Amino acid sequence: MIQIGDICIHLINDCTVMVEAGGAFGLVPRALWRSLMPPDEENRVPMTAHCLLVTVGGRKIIVDTGHGSKLTGRQQAILQWKSYEGGLLGGLARLGLSADDIDLVVDTHLHADHAGGNTAYDAQGQIVPVFPNAEYVVQRREYEDAMRPNERTQAAYVPMNYQPLVESGQMRLLDGDTELAPGVWGVITPGHTPAHMSVRFESQGQHAAFLCDMASYAIHFERLGWMTAYDVEPLVTLETKRRWQKWALETSAVLIFTHDPVRPVGRFVAGDDGKGRVEPIPEPYV
Ligand SMILES: [Zn+2]
Repeated sequence: MIQIGDICIHLINDCTVMVEAGGAFGLVPRALWRSLMPPDEENRVPMTAHCLLVTVGGRKIIVDTGHGSKLTGRQQAILQWKSYEGGLLGGLARLGLSADDIDLVVDTHLHADHAGGNTAYDAQGQIVPVFPNAEYVVQRREYEDAMRPNERTQAAYVPMNYQPLVESGQMRLLDGDTELAPGVWGVITPGHTPAHMSVRFESQGQHAAFLCDMASYAIHFERLGWMTAYDVEPLVTLETKRRWQKWALETSAVLIFTHDPVRPVGRFVAGDDGKGRVEPIPEPYV
């Protein structure tokens, strides 16, 4: 558990999948990253799908919902999808909670590995919200981009993960940076998508951030020039990271990385060589 003043953060892994290393590392040659994230024989690397349970002031908040339960058998096979101990809902159960207890669900963006667990099939095969009593939020610009994808972005967007929630009024669309609960801020960190959101936590002088796909792995935060091939605006990602590196140094914030199985949590510290590095903080999954 990560305690930031009055804010309590639990790290839950929904699942682990294997993805093309070219997706995770883009143009960076394998020789430079393979010791950090060893690939399998088909040049795939592991990606976790980290979600958070945040409690503050009696409110229970989920940040990102992972891949969820709607992947087809073929999709599971391609991704080598492995649910982690019952996924997000299994993690909540280990904390003594059910989906009914959640007040707010924050989608950092609407890619299927972050919003897939928003909805599920019921016994009749209908799409229903996984968190029936929660309000869901996402940036309006992200929703508009998801509803009007182009030939390159469409593979990542699956409307049944969010369209029914917006149409029923259960998902609220945000217009820019928003305080979602005391000390819990949804802040736009553009690049991965134009309205990609990170979640910043501040309480009693302590700081943390779920960076999400601003820096999918810790190494992406350390190296400004490294970003995934999934980024829609890679040069914008670079400048976003430059600003947040400065913030992380100034605040000694606890940083949470969405897809990193090796260093899921850490602090950014200045190195003797003038380059910063992420020092891992051991943080077991719920
Ligand atoms: Zn992602």
